[in-house]
Amino acid sequence: MKSLAKQLPKPGMWMVDNPMPEMGHNDLLIKIRKTAICGTDMHIYNWDEWSQNTIPVPMIVGHEYVGEVVDIGSEVVGFKKGDRVSGEGHITCGHCRNCRAGRRHLCRNTTGVGVNRQGAFAEYLVIPAFNAFKIPANISDDMAAIFDPFGNAVHTALSFDLVGEDVLVTGAGPIGIMAAAVARHVGARHVVITDVNEYRLELARKMGVSRAINVQTTSLKEVMSDLGMTEGFDIGLEMSGVPSAFRDMLDKMNHGGKIAMLGIPPQDVSIDWNKVIFKGLTIKGIYGREMFETWYKMVSLLQSGLDLRPIITHQMPVDDFQSGFEIMGSGQSGKVILDWNS
Ligand code: NAD
Ligand code: ZN
Repeated sequence: MKSLAKQLPKPGMWMVDNPMPEMGHNDLLIKIRKTAICGTDMHIYNWDEWSQNTIPVPMIVGHEYVGEVVDIGSEVVGFKKGDRVSGEGHITCGHCRNCRAGRRHLCRNTTGVGVNRQGAFAEYLVIPAFNAFKIPANISDDMAAIFDPFGNAVHTALSFDLVGEDVLVTGAGPIGIMAAAVARHVGARHVVITDVNEYRLELARKMGVSRAINVQTTSLKEVMSDLGMTEGFDIGLEMSGVPSAFRDMLDKMNHGGKIAMLGIPPQDVSIDWNKVIFKGLTIKGIYGREMFETWYKMVSLLQSGLDLRPIITHQMPVDDFQSGFEIMGSGQSGKVILDWNS
C-alpha cells in the first residue's frame, strides 16, 4: 500500500510502498480518506532532537485522519464495515491504575499512532477498535480529519468553567484558534488571543474572537483597558509553548485565575512563582484528549453550530505532500489536509 514514511534518519518524508498492516482480534482496518498535518509531523519531517530520540525509523507517520472501516477483528463489537471513523491516537495500556479507573488520558504507558507505532499517512491503518470513534453523518470528512487537534483544543478549553469569564489564549496556532472559538461558543465574555504571526491572528479574527493581538506591537495591558477589564483574566489557555507568552499570562491573570497548559515549552523555563502563589492561581497540564468524553463534546459542539471551517486553509492530493509540509512549515496556514482519494 501507498504510505508516507520517515524512511531515513534525516530531514524529509518519503512516499513508499509498504505491506498492508496486520490485524489482531480486537482491531479495525481503516481505509484512509483524508489526513491532516500536525505540528508533531513537522517535527518528524524536520528530524529535530525530539524526533531523533523518539521515532524508530522506518515509521509511517501521521495521526490525524478520517477513513472507512473495511475489516473488523473477530472479537470487535459495535462497528460494521462502511462505518466512517476517526480515532484516538493515544493507545493506552488498559491495566495501569488510571486506565482501570477510567482515566485513560492519564495512562502512564501511552503509545502514539504515527509516533511509536505505524501511523495514518497510508492507504490503510490498523488501530484497536477501542480507539476508533464513529463520525455522525452530519459532520464532514474535513472536520473529522482534524478531530485529534480539535480534541486538544476542547480538552484544554473545557478544563474550567468559561461561562461569563474573560479568557486569554496565548498562541494562535490551529489549536489555539480552535480553543478560542470553543471558548466563545460556550459563553465566555471576552476572548483575547495573542501571537506574533499576522496571518494566524487574521485567521483568529475570522473565528470571532474579541481581540487577536500581535504582542510584538500591542501590549495586552492596552487591550485589557480597551475592553474595560480592570482586574485580569479569569482563565488562561497556554497554546504557544513560548516562555515569554506564559510569563505574560501569569502577569495578566486575576487572583484566583485558572490556567490550562497545552503548549510544550522548552525544558527549564523559569517563571515568577510569586505570581502563582500570591494570586492563588491553579495550573493544569493537558495531554491529548479525554477518552472519550472530549470526543463526544467535539461532536456536540459542531452539531450545536460551532463553525471551524475557516481553520482548514489548504487541501491537496497526498502526492503533493512536499508542498503541504512546506506550507505548514511557513506558518502561513491553518490546518493542511492531504486527500488520499484524489
Ligand atoms: P503551533 O506551533 O502551530 O502554534 C503555536 C503558535 O504560537 C504559533 O502560531 C506561534 O507563532 C505562536 N507564538 C510564538 N511566539 C509567541 C508569543 N510570544 N506569544 C504568543 N504566541 C506566540 O502549534 P499548535 O499545533 O497550534 O499547538 C499548540 C501547542 O500545543 C504547541 O506548543 C504544541 O507543541 C502543543 N501540543 C501539545 C499537545 C499536548 O497533548 N499537550 C498536543 C498537541 C500540541
Ligand atoms: Zn494505562
